[in-house]
Amino acid sequence: MLNWHRGIQLFCVLVLVGLWMMNIDGLSAAATSAEDDEQRARRFIQRHESTIAPLEIEVNRHWWTANVSGKDDDYRRKLEAETKLNMALADPEAFAELKAIRAGQIADPIVRRQIDVLYLQYLGKQVDPELLKRIVEKANLIEQAFNVHRPRINGKELTDNEVRRVLRISKHSAERKAVWEASKTIGSVVEKDLKELVRLRNQAARKLGFGDYHKMQLYLAEQDQEQVLRVFDELDELTRKPFRQAKAEIDALLAKQCNTSVEELRPWHYHDPFFQESPDVFHEGSEAFYSTLDVVKLCREFFGGIGLPVEGILARSDLYEKKGKNPHAFSLDIDRAGDVRVLANVVPNRQWLDTMLHELGHAVYSENISRKLPYVLRTEAHPLTTEGVAMMFGRLADDAGWLEAMGVKLPDAERFRAAAEKRRRNALLIFSRWCQVMVRFEAQLYANPDQDLNKLWWDLVEKYQEVKRPEDRNLPDYAAKIHIVSAPAYYHNYMFGEMFASQLHHTIAREVLGGVHPRKAVYVGNKGVGRFMIERVFAPGLSMDWNALTRHATGKDLGPADFAADLQVD
Ligand SMILES: [Zn+2]
Repeated sequence: MLNWHRGIQLFCVLVLVGLWMMNIDGLSAAATSAEDDEQRARRFIQRHESTIAPLEIEVNRHWWTANVSGKDDDYRRKLEAETKLNMALADPEAFAELKAIRAGQIADPIVRRQIDVLYLQYLGKQVDPELLKRIVEKANLIEQAFNVHRPRINGKELTDNEVRRVLRISKHSAERKAVWEASKTIGSVVEKDLKELVRLRNQAARKLGFGDYHKMQLYLAEQDQEQVLRVFDELDELTRKPFRQAKAEIDALLAKQCNTSVEELRPWHYHDPFFQESPDVFHEGSEAFYSTLDVVKLCREFFGGIGLPVEGILARSDLYEKKGKNPHAFSLDIDRAGDVRVLANVVPNRQWLDTMLHELGHAVYSENISRKLPYVLRTEAHPLTTEGVAMMFGRLADDAGWLEAMGVKLPDAERFRAAAEKRRRNALLIFSRWCQVMVRFEAQLYANPDQDLNKLWWDLVEKYQEVKRPEDRNLPDYAAKIHIVSAPAYYHNYMFGEMFASQLHHTIAREVLGGVHPRKAVYVGNKGVGRFMIERVFAPGLSMDWNALTRHATGKDLGPADFAADLQVD
């Protein structure tokens, strides 16, 4: 009975609201006050929270389950949930309403921010469904080609690991060349489809009023192509000289490895197909040392010690290898309400120490976003800010001072310190020059897909990575990089993340650790570091855009100065 009464009451209220709304609709537009705009905004947000948020949480749950189990059924359910969410966000009526609300006056900054964030989220889904379908199909087709394609040499198939192994150890230039060339054959397989995909993506972007797809993707991520390229120009200036020095030392060792001259070095002399990683030429032999460490225990003690305990996260996580499970690692905030988990495949080595520090960096960020924020803003400010935090913690794996402060006994402390320092510096330098190629190539690819892309690619490689192009080769080597298909217009965020990491680290050294030199700054056991991270980086969530958050956290705009300072040789 009680419920029935309640039902009647609720019905009456709804009728009254309906009549009231009819009155409002009857008024002229000019009379609509700022307060009404804000009311409409609040109603829209409320509806979003009650309809879209559950779908997002559903996607996250299926995402987790599928990646842990690897089962087809779980992947099917994940895809279904994703499709449902995308359809809801694509609703043109909801978008039209949102657009009108956004143009109105909204005084409350938290309501205004939510509307701005939602606008971009819905805008990205307003692509004509037929066109969207063609884009998704084309991208899937190419990704599948990547998955099934194997490089071949003399009729024998090579796995990715075998390619890397030859590039790491072979002393014969001819063998290296053959394997490297085989690793690029996927480029010619997907070239035509990739060009078509670029055209389709551009078509979608133009329909939404953007110059091209790259510009649109950046706009949707609250970034601006001009600003991004300006920062990359500055970064280029600051890294060129130290990169040349580091590369000269590496090149000499690579030439020696193959009994050739530095002049004769070509792309296949580097240890990975794109020269995005530091070649393994220094043989400092620290792997044996890392294999003695208890990775998870070290991480638990470290994060707990700085006031960012991870017990809850670890308890919900899936940390070790299993059949069918995704072999990589990620952190996932399931519900923006405290259910944060890490998927990993921990084995005791250097790479997994770095990876676990990295993923738990993502996880403590998600967990410490203020719960007082509304759902829409209760998430990270930007991919680059969460990558930056994760990278800042991941770098500790190569920090001798950190290991010692954690009570780890280093085999030959001085030698270890020097080797780890060089490894860290070379990795950052080489990655930064590689990012220059990717970011500039993608921007120009979408700006003018009809130009000579093979030439553009090698022009950029020669300019930024300073690797000589192979003679008499005119093939689509750019198309061998899967990121262009699967994570378009995203690569700059990895580099911005590195810069954010350096800028944060310098701020902590200055403001929390009493002005110690950043190279000597050790966080271990210092609760002030955790407090700084919570107050200045995590808590604001998406209530600030990444530019504002960077200023809030570090006192200045994001730039390459601190990153470059970290690359100096003492
Ligand atoms: Zn990450």
